[in-house]
Parts: sequence; structure tokens; C-alpha cells
Amino acid sequence: MTAPLTIAIDGPSGSGKSSVSRAVARHLGVGFLDTGAMYRALTWWCLERGLDLTDADAVAAAARDLPLDVGTDPDAPTVSVDGTDVSAAIRTTRVSTKVSAVATNLEVRAELQQRQRDLVARIARETGGVVAEGRDITTVVAPDASVRVLLTASEEARLRRRSAELHGATDAAAVEATRDQVVRRDRDDSTVSTFTEAAPGVVLVDTSDLDFEQSVAAVLEVVAAETAS
Ligand code: C5P
Repeated sequence: MTAPLTIAIDGPSGSGKSSVSRAVARHLGVGFLDTGAMYRALTWWCLERGLDLTDADAVAAAARDLPLDVGTDPDAPTVSVDGTDVSAAIRTTRVSTKVSAVATNLEVRAELQQRQRDLVARIARETGGVVAEGRDITTVVAPDASVRVLLTASEEARLRRRSAELHGATDAAAVEATRDQVVRRDRDDSTVSTFTEAAPGVVLVDTSDLDFEQSVAAVLEVVAAETAS
């Protein structure tokens, strides 16, 4: 029996890690875990309940109680909280602008990291492997993964991609409107996770000059090389 293939992918906002990770999971026929969606779901839940996000103890308690369910099919990843499908709600600007405040709470991180380790183990067992993506998967959640990749891209490329995604445009005004969700969020997130430099043993894939298909192919090449060695 072969050991499950665990692939950890980290990267900053706009690096393409979500879509690339899903495509890699689909190609390999294994499950997918979007850990950012878990921080987003918690943020949504806190906002729904009117919690003060600066109240660290209240937010940490909400993390422990969070009735979260994440679907791990790369073709249809779903997120629900207490039976409510929040897949769309967690992508709104309301959540995107607040998620770092929740994700920089260290008790929240400890709780969600433990859930993520359990999910990675379960998905790997059930589907023969897993692609888990986020900001601290290669370093904290799954440092012993079979393959670890840091997906990066220049700030300009990341701003352009997110702008096209959020506003359907890449003119100067649209790019400026996206800056908070890319540059400020990454700066805040960097205070608790290291995802701008590859840790020892983590392979750096720079997608600045690659399109989507080329980015997927580049990660699959790393997987093939790392699993062959
Ligand atoms: O990847 P995504 O942009 O959906 O992540 C949303 C937020 O979740 C990030 O800005 C960060 O605050 C948090 N996050 C994290 N650690 C992870 C994944 C996401 O802190 N492993």
C-alpha cells in the first residue's frame, strides 16, 4: 500500500494558490483543503453574532465553538456554518477586510490549525492524498508533507489578478481599489505567518510570468520531482 500524497501549498494573496491547488488536486484525484476559507468562515460567524473582533477572548471562544463543515471535493468545495452554506458570503469585501483581525489572534490559530491537521489526515486517508493551501501549511500545519510549495508572484501581478477577479478590470482605479485586499492584508497576515520566503525544504514557484495552465503544470512538475526523489 502506498502512503498518501500530502501536498502543502502556501502563498500570498493573488498568487493563484487557491485555483492552482484545486486544479492540482483534481489532476491527482485527491481531496482539497482551503484553510483560508476556515478563517473566513469564522470571521463571518463572528460578524453575524455582532462580536467585537478586538475582543480576543470572545473571538477565541467562537473559534472553539464554530460549527464548521468544509467540503473537500476540488470540483465543488463548500463551506457551511451551523448548516448555512456560506461559500459566497465568506468572499465578500465585508469578510475580506476583517479576516486578518481574526487570523492574527493566536488562540484562534491554534484551534484552526488543529482542525486543519485533523482534516488533512482524514482527507488523505479517504482520498489517498490531499492538497492543502494557505499561509502556514508548509511551516506549521503540515511541515512533514510529502511536497511543500511556496507559490508566489510579483506584487504587480498579484494586484492585477485580484483586480480582474473582484472588479472585472485591471485599470489603475480598479487596481487601487484592490490594494487593501492584497497588500494591507498580506502585511497584517505576515505578522503571524511566514509566506513571503520559502522555508528550508520548500520549493518556490514564481507565477509572475505564467498563466493559469502553466502555473498548474509548474506545480505538477514539482510534485513529480519531489515524489520521484
Ligand atoms: O487564502 P485567503 O485569502 O482566502 O485567506 C483569507 C485569510 O485567512 C488570510 O488573509 C489570512 O488572514 C487567513 N489565513 C491564515 N492562515 C492560513 C490561511 C489563511 O491566517 N493558513
